[in-house]
Amino acid sequence: MFLVRLVYVSTFSKDFQSQDIEAILNVSRENNLKKYVTGMLCFNRKYFLQCIEGTRQSVNETYNRIVTDPRHHNLIILDYKEIAVREFSDWSMGYIPESKLTNDININFGGTSIFSPYDMSGESAFMMMLALKSTVPAL
Ligand code: FAD
Repeated sequence: MFLVRLVYVSTFSKDFQSQDIEAILNVSRENNLKKYVTGMLCFNRKYFLQCIEGTRQSVNETYNRIVTDPRHHNLIILDYKEIAVREFSDWSMGYIPESKLTNDININFGGTSIFSPYDMSGESAFMMMLALKSTVPAL
């Protein structure tokens, strides 16, 4: 069993309501804890950017469930790679809210002050979540 990390971006659907984010985080944390999946989820009321890490099987199974979820669409995988060690081991699913996606963060990792994850490289998206992880609770 070896570890992989997957980073994808998506757009939330019209029928998505902002309180759905709590439900998504709750079910994600419950499921991910059981499967030793860890990661981060960014949400800015338009886009999701998520990183999940774990065994290849558990990451693929999780992504296959996520990809069919009607609460978002237009999923694009930005990166998928084998990794030697987890970076988010304390977060079954850390949540990076819009307030953390400041102009400075967006300029540093995306080139402009607007959060535009479809235009980011997988590495930049991952590095941005890495930079922000210490600012959000381990959950
Ligand atoms: P069930 O709970 O049995 O639901 C059946 C179907 O209905 C699934 O297709 C489900 O996606 C959909 N569904 C569930 N709730 C709603 C709702 N309120 N409105 C509309 N459709 C709904 N799950 C994880 O386990 N780990 C994650 O890291 C994770 N990250 C996610 C990130 C995002 C951006 C989104 C949108 C979802 C995420 N999920 C995650 C949730 C995942 O998509 C599944 O809903 C969840 O894993 C339960 O899967 P299930 O097959 O048991 O579905």
